[in-house]
Amino acid sequence: MKNIILFGKPGAGKGTQAALLRDAFQLVHISTGDLFRYNIGNNTSLGALAKSYMDQGDLVPDEVTIKMLEAEVDANPDAGGFIFDGFPRTSKQAEALDEFLHGKEMRIQATIALEVDEEVLIKRLLNRGKDSGRADDQDEEKIRNRFEEYNNKTAPLISYYIAQNKFHSITGVGTVTEISEQLIALLDSL
Ligand code: ADP
Repeated sequence: MKNIILFGKPGAGKGTQAALLRDAFQLVHISTGDLFRYNIGNNTSLGALAKSYMDQGDLVPDEVTIKMLEAEVDANPDAGGFIFDGFPRTSKQAEALDEFLHGKEMRIQATIALEVDEEVLIKRLLNRGKDSGRADDQDEEKIRNRFEEYNNKTAPLISYYIAQNKFHSITGVGTVTEISEQLIALLDSL
């Protein structure tokens, strides 16, 4: 069983690459961002709560996010493994994930970061915002706030996973195929 975390700043390409890895390795792809957007689209109370944070580029509170993630893992008991995309994003989430997986005799094999410079990411996100209509992708100030959330709350997880010998990093600049080939080779080597 392979359980992988895709790691990286907003716009690094986690969602695109997660979908390709899901197909290549028959994994279940869990994107917390997609789950929140699904809830917003369906006007659930979770969606209403998440929207107030997401629209500003702030992280949704840990308690809510952790509960949603655990429910999604539990909803896939037959999975051959998971790709976690956009989770964990805080130390509390990382610790909760380790504890939760431990209780199921599962563990994370690898955390893989997609590295892209912030100025490249801003261009990508503003472009994505034009097509997707995502409020958090349309305003440079909100995008910069997401980077700040990442740098303050998510970047510290790099040392958390280095300490567990699970941290890998590859460039997120290049064609989608070039990047996915590197990811597939890395997963094959695990
Ligand atoms: P991106 O990686 O481009 O920021 P996502 O779809 O992963 O896009 O996330 C969009 C937003 O959803 C985040 O800015 C945040 O508000 C919320 N979100 C997603 N995952 C988490 C998480 N693990 N913890 C807290 N908030 C989250």
